[in-house]
Amino acid sequence: MTIDLPKTVTIIEVGPRDGLQNVSVFIPTDAKNQFITDLKIAGVKEMEVSSFVSPKWIPQMRDAEEVALHSLDNQVRTIVLAPNRAGIERALGSNCKDIAIFIGVSNSFNQKNINRTTTQAREELLPIVKELKELGCFVRTCISTAFYCPFEGHINEEDTIQLCQQFVQAGADELSVADTIGMAAPHESYSLFSKLTSLFSETLITAHFHDTRGMALANIFAALQAGVSRFDTSAGGIGGCPFAPGASGNVATEDVVYMLERMGIQTGIQLPLLFQAIEGIVPHLPKPITSSYYTLLQKA
Ligand code: ZN
Repeated sequence: MTIDLPKTVTIIEVGPRDGLQNVSVFIPTDAKNQFITDLKIAGVKEMEVSSFVSPKWIPQMRDAEEVALHSLDNQVRTIVLAPNRAGIERALGSNCKDIAIFIGVSNSFNQKNINRTTTQAREELLPIVKELKELGCFVRTCISTAFYCPFEGHINEEDTIQLCQQFVQAGADELSVADTIGMAAPHESYSLFSKLTSLFSETLITAHFHDTRGMALANIFAALQAGVSRFDTSAGGIGGCPFAPGASGNVATEDVVYMLERMGIQTGIQLPLLFQAIEGIVPHLPKPITSSYYTLLQKA
């Protein structure tokens, strides 16, 4: 039996943003910048580097301007998150052209996270997508709680698809569709992603899994079979979401790269250099790294 799988996969490294924003102690700007440089050296070509969020919400990201300035690079898609108009202005003021916005499918999640209903958030963001496209920006839309919500439980597939469709119609270049609390199972991953890849074939479809319940790799394999060839991962598995209780553990870049390369799928990322990048940030982290690949190499 042969399974139809992509020959190459794009890894979108989210450690410096999604990962570090969940770390409780402030990580010095120089250490963040070095981490980003090391990840580029390891072969990362697309990366979320920081978030132009209010420093009152997430003090860890208060150096977004400096990190963005350090990270901008013609060879690497340097993505910054901007949750609202104020964030967009800061991002544009820092010459960022690759901008991520985010919205949850779940109403309760949006209310707790961004203090808006899903409808309010959507109505604020859709015109922003159009404006950013007119300015020549690359727009990534992060769709969180696409499968389950920490407050509402199961999310209807149809609701996720409808929200995605509205952002596609507004001109978004990419949808990063997230299992924010790591509750999706592989059949759900396959079902949603096969619909998204066939409905929105002109849009980049990225899968974002958390390994909270140990199912991220299985979900990624299911998404690969559904035609997805782009995955958000976090070096060292650092991170989670400060507004989603129980959402620990982005899937680790090294575990995903290891699995894909073993399957003969190219990622362009060199594991030994990725390991070095993780070693550089480890002394600044309050918690140990627990990814399978990293743990194995440490014992060796
Ligand atoms: Zn995440």
